[in-house]
Amino acid sequence: MGKTVFNLHSMKLNSKLAVAGVLLFLAFSGNAAAQTVIDSLLKLEKNQYFADRDSAYLDPYYGLKKLIYGNRRFAEDKSVKPRQADIDLKNTEKGQAPFATIIGCADSRVPNEIIFDQGVGDLFITRTAGQVMAEASFGTIEYATVVLKTNLIVVLGHQSCGAVDAAMKLPENPPGHVVTLINAIKPASLRAKAANLAPAEALDFAIRENVIEQVKMLRNLEPVLSRKAEKGEVLIVGAVYDLKTGYVNFIEETITSLPKFAN
Ligand SMILES: [Zn+2]
Repeated sequence: MGKTVFNLHSMKLNSKLAVAGVLLFLAFSGNAAAQTVIDSLLKLEKNQYFADRDSAYLDPYYGLKKLIYGNRRFAEDKSVKPRQADIDLKNTEKGQAPFATIIGCADSRVPNEIIFDQGVGDLFITRTAGQVMAEASFGTIEYATVVLKTNLIVVLGHQSCGAVDAAMKLPENPPGHVVTLINAIKPASLRAKAANLAPAEALDFAIRENVIEQVKMLRNLEPVLSRKAEKGEVLIVGAVYDLKTGYVNFIEETITSLPKFAN
């Protein structure tokens, strides 16, 4: 009898252990599923703050990693201000090999080299309000891609963007050339309005939509970028800078696996 009871107990214990095991397994697989596309693709490491400069120039995913680690330093008050000494300035006389092209907003609160903690010769940047692009910006980006062989392009929007906010208000007669900006951001602002969100959420939505739209436009831009994107020679991604936290959040939907750099 005692034996039976013991067996029953051990059976209960075994089934409890089995349930615990299954729950543990589910918890781990749940975590794995929740891991972002970016984390797994880039194999981002916790407590890591540095990535090699030469590798970043050769491989756009490594470049992305370098930007993420640099931004981590900035957001966590650990900036090292690399390649900003006199000797670095003198070295740049010989030429440049920036590892990333940034298409950012002109907003004074988003200084690219500072928020990514990079130095002289690292980033090739064009900035306009709402990072709206026109012919001259396209030529600038193509120059970086073709001549400087920079194979990572980041479209960088930011929280509380005045240009996107202005486009959300759909003004009838914007002053001077501002109409160009409003018209370019209009599709994103209309989609945000259609989503029926609270004003602050609608602005965030439009900012993100605008970046995604701009990434798509660059990927399809004839004749240079479209071909390079198709061949997997250039990585074009989008991100939004958070003014409050200092973190740049890359948009998962814009991270793609390029055949040329696939592991
Ligand atoms: Zn802005």
